[in-house]
Amino acid sequence: MSDALSRTATCLCGAVTVSPAVINPKFTVCHCASCRKWSTGPLFMLQCGEDVTFDGKEAISEYDSSAWAARGFCNRCGTNLFVRFKHNNSFNVPVGLFPDVEGLEMSMQYFIDSKPDYYCFSNETPTLTEAEILAYFADKM
Ligand SMILES: [Zn+2]
Ligand SMILES: [Zn+2]
Repeated sequence: MSDALSRTATCLCGAVTVSPAVINPKFTVCHCASCRKWSTGPLFMLQCGEDVTFDGKEAISEYDSSAWAARGFCNRCGTNLFVRFKHNNSFNVPVGLFPDVEGLEMSMQYFIDSKPDYYCFSNETPTLTEAEILAYFADKM
């Protein structure tokens, strides 16, 4: 959370700019099948809250991926831009869009029971299973 520069990201083609007011550098990883299909690997996300400014909205498309979240992407270059949680309209933004955020630290791994065997992180973090996550969202759908 150093300066405004490090908090502004663009997609590959530059049509969309993403500017969160706040970035929590303790990022999360999701191993679920949807995230792995969407991002072609485990998904590294920064929690950016509700106060996120998007420029180039005409180039943003959303895919309604589950009962609790939608996924946004640039409809010109295909860069994945965010996961938006419907119950509070908060955004998680891929870590890769913000290469110079300081203090990045893996803090949590979601859907650990969906992680395939072909990769494994050595980071020691708390984990949540699918059942634990579904219990969390049960009253938010
Ligand atoms: Zn783009
Ligand atoms: Zn996921």
